[in-house]
This record gives sequence, structure tokens and C-alpha cells, in this order.
Amino acid sequence: MSNVTPVHNDIIDEALALTRQAIGADAVITDADTRAYHSQDVFATGPTVAAVIRPTTVADLASAIKILTTAGIAVFPRGGGYSYTDAYLPTGPNGVSLDMSGLNETLEINTEDMFVTVQAGCTWEALDNALAPHGVRAEFWGPLSGFKATVGGGMSQGAASLGSSKDGISAEAVLGMEIVTAEGTVFATGSAAQDGKSPFFRNYGPDLTGLFCGDAGALGIKATITLRLQKRAKFTQGLSFGFDTFEAAHKAMSAIAASNRATEVFGFTRRAMEGAIASKGLWEDLKIMFAVGRTSGGPIAGLFQVLKMALAGRRWSTNSECFVHCAVEADNPTELKGHMQTVRDAVGSAGRDIPNTMPTVMRATPFMPYPVVGMDAKRMLPLHAILPFSKVVAFHRALEAYFEKRKADMDALDMTTPSIFGTLSTNGFLYEPVLYWPDQPDIFHERNTPEELLAPMRENAPSERGRILAKEMFEEMVTIMHEHSGVHLQIGKAYPYTRDRSDMTIALVRQIKDLTDPRGLINPGALGL
Ligand SMILES: Cc1cc2nc3c(=O)[nH]c(=O)nc-3n(C[C@H](O)[C@H](O)[C@H](O)COP(=O)(O)OP(=O)(O)OC[C@H]3O[C@@H](n4cnc5c(N)ncnc54)[C@H](O)[C@@H]3O)c2cc1C
Repeated sequence: MSNVTPVHNDIIDEALALTRQAIGADAVITDADTRAYHSQDVFATGPTVAAVIRPTTVADLASAIKILTTAGIAVFPRGGGYSYTDAYLPTGPNGVSLDMSGLNETLEINTEDMFVTVQAGCTWEALDNALAPHGVRAEFWGPLSGFKATVGGGMSQGAASLGSSKDGISAEAVLGMEIVTAEGTVFATGSAAQDGKSPFFRNYGPDLTGLFCGDAGALGIKATITLRLQKRAKFTQGLSFGFDTFEAAHKAMSAIAASNRATEVFGFTRRAMEGAIASKGLWEDLKIMFAVGRTSGGPIAGLFQVLKMALAGRRWSTNSECFVHCAVEADNPTELKGHMQTVRDAVGSAGRDIPNTMPTVMRATPFMPYPVVGMDAKRMLPLHAILPFSKVVAFHRALEAYFEKRKADMDALDMTTPSIFGTLSTNGFLYEPVLYWPDQPDIFHERNTPEELLAPMRENAPSERGRILAKEMFEEMVTIMHEHSGVHLQIGKAYPYTRDRSDMTIALVRQIKDLTDPRGLINPGALGL
């Protein structure tokens, strides 16, 4: 651990024995497989943790953290584990992984005051399933990894996707949280920071909730989270367009974002689109079709939608170089038609209509179990920047020039670089290049990938060179992102949070860390602290 002295084995043994006494033997897991699994993420492997702690109550969570940090043991919080920026990976030997998946209850659904309180280890899918019967959903309702990814993970690293084009990222939907410090103190932010008060509102004086959004878990452990609710819309419709150039697609996405009518707006380069819609087989296709039929707003609309998908199938191919897919929502058909027209007006004549299969599937099955490898059985390292709309085209050209410069290195390792885009409310453009290369699966991939993709992946030769090149390119691309005003979610231990910041802002964050984690034992290395 960067500034943390690793503890001796006998201290670990003693602290784990105390933890077992305090929170039960079942909550302390030390088998080799589980420890190895919790020491990897989608991209990297860290030093193996000494144990995995899985508390099931907030009291047990606080008590376990206190025992471990009192012994000088570093604790690495982990939600669904679906990240790729070393975010929960240990930085030295004898750390302990704090598995939040045991704290997964929905505690209060309040449809009068329009908030929901959940435990941090609840997945976005479980949350949405709990809310659906009440006719409501969270304002930000999940990343596409939400069948595994947790609300706590989404708040700690910032997540975008479902609802983001209208209402922004995960942090914008949160009203308050209960945080556990390194010393086991539990405190609330938002209106619930006053004893006995409802968590219904975020701002009453300085916004303490915001401090813990995007903190990569460095400033404390989120135990519970309260999110703002909104009514579920009755009607949803997908629209898809093909464009000749990235520039034309970007212009359309900027105009759609400014209109603030679409709930999700995604863009794909041609290569990304080809990878994304590779068929998963007839059974998966049928399951999706039935889901579409259930969710497309009434039996006739549903039937029509299924028929249209069956006819269009995956025949999306046009001469387009870039694709934009949107979803719009409304409470009645007239409003829906109006929103669709607004989107069409924003796109103008530059966009050609293509089958809306992709947004229709995405909204019908928002929490599909996406694999953690490419559809062509390659390993992956996604990276991203959020850019102001005005800088996007210059950034895109700089990135294309960079790929050209690196072409020989990438070709030698069969590395490809499709890119995906999105809009975040009216003011952010998410640009996500993904590096793919043939490589062997690790334990993480083995546990989170269907056999149809794993079997060909196991045939790949191990490619340490691929991983080294990916990491090298990550660093170089982040520099280009910064040159174009790019900022990041998912900071973890990979994005340079402290780079170019004023001494004052770094001192402020460090002071907060000193208060909640005086010995630097909660996720050391995260945020670069
Ligand atoms: C196939 C796939 C699809 C994806 N799609 C999207 C997408 O659509 N949008 C998007 O934004 N991202 C996406 N991601 C990235 C990632 O899954 C999300 O950002 C997600 O929010 C991570 O949540 P998690 O619970 O898995 O967090 P983890 O990976 O477990 O942890 C992330 C960070 O949060 C910290 N943390 C977790 N829980 C707590 C807690 N309770 N208290 C304090 N710190 C905590 C960890 O220490 C770590 O720093 C995708 C990833 C994959 C593999």
C-alpha cells in the first residue's frame, strides 16, 4: 500500500479472529479462490487480499472496519466489482476486501416524499425491480452493468447511462448517505444529518453528500444511500440514425442533448456497432423479443415493435460511419410524438433513419448480463473522458491521429479500438474508447463470462504485451483527454485526480480524508491519496 506499512501475518490472524467473534464466522472468508477473485477487476490483478469480509448489517460493517483499522489493516471496499481502474484492488500485501454485497436491502420506498433508501450493496437491477411495482424509479436508474454493479459502487465512482441524457450521472440523483468512517463512526449527510430527520432533501447548508460522490471510497464507506424518485413514464420509443461522419453525429448529439428530451443518447463508431450487436444466438434473441413485447407500451404497440424487430433483425448495416441511438419517454402518445419530433428536428437532414433495434432492446432489457470481455472473445480496457461539447471534435481528431501513430503496435497485437459516446444532461459529452486484444481469461473473466465466449478465449495465447500496451495507451490517451478539458468518472487508482489541481483543493480533500480516515487505511491509493 502506497503509504501503508503491511501488517504481519499474526496481526492479521488476530484481527480476523476478533472480526469473526464480532460479526460471525460466515462473514469472514479466507478460501484461496475467493481471495484471488476479489483481488482482480475487469482489467488488472492486485496483490492477493488476506481475507474477504462480508457484513450483513450496518452495525457489523462499522464494527468490522473498526477492528481491522485499529490493527493497522488496510480495507478495500468492493461493490459489484465491475470496474476496471484498480478501484478496489489492494495496493500491497495483507489488505482486506470489504464485500458490500451482503448489505443489499431496499429499506424505504416513500412514494409520497419521492425518495428511496437502499443499502449500498444493493444492485441497480434489484433496486429497479423493487421500485417498479410502485410505478416509480430512481432519477438515475443505473449503469448498463446494473445487474451486478451496486448503488454504492455507482455513487463512489460515478456512473452514467440509464436516465443520464436527461438527468445526468448517479451523483445528481442522490439526496443523502450514511457513511462509516475508518474508526467505525456512522454519520449521515443531507437532511438526515439532523437527528431523527427525514432524508428527503440534499441541501441544507454546505453539500456534504457531494463530498462522498466520486470519492472512489477513499473518504469512507457508504452504508446506505437515499435517491430521488420520479414517476415511471408509460410510453418509451427508440430512434436510431446513421451519419456519414463523426462530426455530423456529434452535432446531432449536441442538439439532442440541448433539447433535454431524450432519456438516453448513445453514439457508436461503425466498429463499435459491429461488436455490440453480434448475435448472442436465437434463444437470447427470443428472450429479448418477449421483453420488448412486454415493455413497449400496450399490447398492440408491443406486438408491432416485436414484428418490426423481427423484420429488421440485426440488418442495421448502411454506409454510415457513426450511429446515434436515443430513447424518449412520455406519459401519453401525443407527448411521445412531440418528443420524437424534437429529436428528429435536432438531428436534421444529416441523420438517416435506421432500424431502432438497439435502443428498443436496451430499454426492454436494461440490465442484460453483459459479458466483461469483447463479443469476439478479447480482453478489454475501456477508458473515457467527459468533455464540453465545444472540445469534442478537436479531441476526436487528436485521438484518431494518436491511433494512427500507434497503428503498427496495435496491429502487431491484433488490438482494436472501437468508441462509444453518450450525452450527460445538457452539458456533458461522454467519449469512451475501448481497447480490445486477444488474451487469456483471468479468474474474474472466468466467473463473469458465458461459456460461448470463454471457450474461444481460452484458446488465445496469454498476452502480457497486450496488457502492457493497453496500460501505456491508457496513460497517453488520458493526457490527450486532459489537453481537451476532459474529466473522469471511475477515478479509482488509475485516473490522475490530483494532476493540475491547486494546492488548496488538494489540501481540502486531504483534510477531509484525515478526519474520516486518519491513518489512511480506507482504500489507500484511491484518488491518488
Ligand atoms: C459490461 C460492463 C458494462 C458497464 N456499463 C457501464 C455503464 O453503462 N455506465 C457506467 O457508468 N459504468 C459502466 N461500467 C463500469 C462499472 O460497472 C460501473 O461504473 C459501476 O458503477 C461499478 O459499480 P460496482 O458496484 O461494480 O463498483 P466496484 O467496481 O465494486 O467499485 C467501484 C469503486 O467504488 C468503491 N466502492 C464500492 N462500494 C462502496 C461503498 N459501499 N462505499 C465506499 N466505496 C465503495 C470501490 O472501492 C471502488 O473504488 C460497466 C462495466 C462493465 C464491465
